[in-house]
Amino acid sequence: MGNGHDYRIPEPTVAVQPCPLCAKDKWHALTSLANLRNDGRSANQFSNRHPGYTGSLWIMLARDYLRRIWEGKEDASELAARILCGEFARSESSTSVEKGIMAGIEKPGASLPLPISIDWSHQEFVYRWQFGVQRDLYQLLLVSKRARKCERANCPTPFFVAKKLPRRYCGKACADEAVAETKEAYEASGNRPPRREKKNRKGRKGQRP
Ligand SMILES: [Zn+2]
Ligand SMILES: [Zn+2]
Repeated sequence: MGNGHDYRIPEPTVAVQPCPLCAKDKWHALTSLANLRNDGRSANQFSNRHPGYTGSLWIMLARDYLRRIWEGKEDASELAARILCGEFARSESSTSVEKGIMAGIEKPGASLPLPISIDWSHQEFVYRWQFGVQRDLYQLLLVSKRARKCERANCPTPFFVAKKLPRRYCGKACADEAVAETKEAYEASGNRPPRREKKNRKGRKGQRP
């Protein structure tokens, strides 16, 4: 904008070593953030791997909002809008613009970066993300039904993006574990496990009493 005072949020620092897991799985950063454990070490590890990912938003707060969005809580849409519109960053920059105006450095009407731009000739809005979490959350919004939570109660990484629907578990390990747990529970209760678990066995037709 050529006014000499740049209030834009700084570009994320370029990672010296880009996260190798992100190269294999485009949801790696977003799911790791949602699954982040409640300790400082995990948070540090995450931000070393994905520098600048949450912009000016505190990592743990970003994680909590992301979880509510993922679970489709009543404020999911509102929280997603706040992250995608950079509401948190914008309120900070707006304060700094106001300070600039008060100090006489900045002219009133100094504009803040908008999260959208207009492509007039293609007749569309274009979303302009500034941090990785905005880019990925926008991608998740486009496939929001695939944002799933693993149904296994003690799953260590329950937030996942399903490749196909329906999906109840985050992966094979949890699905197998869940089958084993169900079987154990049936055995403990003295009942037989559900029949459908046996469906792949040969010669089932001839087994009728
Ligand atoms: Zn990654
Ligand atoms: Zn799981």
